[in-house]
Amino acid sequence: MTSKLYHECYTHVCQARRLLQDLHELGFDTVVSPVVGENTDNGAADTAALPSTAVPESLLELQNEVEQCHACTLHEKRNHVVFGRGNPFAKLVFVGEAPGYEEDQQGQPFVGEAGRLLDQILFAMGLSAEDVYICNLIKCRPPANRDPHAAEVEACAPYLERQLAVLKPAVIVALGRFAAQTLLGVQTPVSRLRGCWYTYAGIALMPTFHPAYLLRSPLEKKRVWEDMKEVKRRLESGVIKRSD
Ligand code: SF4
Repeated sequence: MTSKLYHECYTHVCQARRLLQDLHELGFDTVVSPVVGENTDNGAADTAALPSTAVPESLLELQNEVEQCHACTLHEKRNHVVFGRGNPFAKLVFVGEAPGYEEDQQGQPFVGEAGRLLDQILFAMGLSAEDVYICNLIKCRPPANRDPHAAEVEACAPYLERQLAVLKPAVIVALGRFAAQTLLGVQTPVSRLRGCWYTYAGIALMPTFHPAYLLRSPLEKKRVWEDMKEVKRRLESGVIKRSD
């Protein structure tokens, strides 16, 4: 084995160990990996049946509008508007808070450390980033990752409302305080909201902790995993369908 190949193998083993460690912290010991080509009925849309460019025109129009937005001062220092990514036909949509440094640099939500953790949560659910849609309440990065101000939430929330109206998922997971409180119109702490089902515009909504919070408080990962198991159960139950 050449030293280069050895190094690559070593890197992959380290990554796998790290993944398993994170999954163990999430509170489960076995991973069921979907078989390629098998219909796992895991709540994801059948992406193979969709043309890759089949993004609804209304979503593209909204994205274009948001990219021109100067409605609050956050536009002044942004490098990119961070609109959303993933499958616009997904049954499951994750809504986070606001872009961080990496997201602002790349113009994509959840691509930093918190995004890596969200990817692992999806993996644990038997899903991939292509099976869901991921976006934020606030589309431009608050300086130094500070909490968004009330005026910024007020200015930007209508874009999320319109985005969700186009996406029409079956289930929304609100990640963290700002997403949960804004979508539900309450001031209740997310620690009390999480773990229960609510309804937003006729769509089932589950609040849970934000992955960035989990990076600071890893002991809370198990609670998030409990919430995600509930989301998975609901998607698989067949009780709800993606709204038309
Ligand atoms: Fe517009 Fe939202 Fe960006 Fe503010 S954060 S400038 S409201 S897109």
